[in-house]
Amino acid sequence: MQKDDCIFCKIAAKKIPSKAVYEDDEIVAFEDINPQAPVHIVVISKNHIEKLSDLAEKDSQLAGRMVMAAKNIAKENGIQESGYRIVMNCNKDGGQAVFHLHLHLLGGRAMKWPPG
Ligand code: 5GP
Ligand code: ZN
Repeated sequence: MQKDDCIFCKIAAKKIPSKAVYEDDEIVAFEDINPQAPVHIVVISKNHIEKLSDLAEKDSQLAGRMVMAAKNIAKENGIQESGYRIVMNCNKDGGQAVFHLHLHLLGGRAMKWPPG
């Protein structure tokens, strides 16, 4: 299930290039084009789901797999011990810009709290 005008659907389908770091049957992970930290990876579902608030009970395993992928990628990038953050922006106040389900893995520097 892909949406023609969706940039992350195009990345998942390899219609536009990305620096992929992980892929399986349900997920792709790639380097963010505008990194906000030394490590900034975007983990997306291959299916077009617009946003976190659209997740259904049947998507629980997908969400879990996205988190596990982020955890594994963090280890591969050597930030497991220093620490990292995962973020899912949802809708306008959450700062979501691309309306295709994704999470951010950020690390390699100290994160601030509260976030902006
Ligand atoms: P959001 O604000 O929706 O949570 O984050 C979307 C993220 O996708 C941003 O960090 C932005 O830099 C990234 N992004 C948008 N377009 C592209 C693209 O074409 N390629 C890559 N690699 N990242 C993108
Ligand atoms: Zn999409």
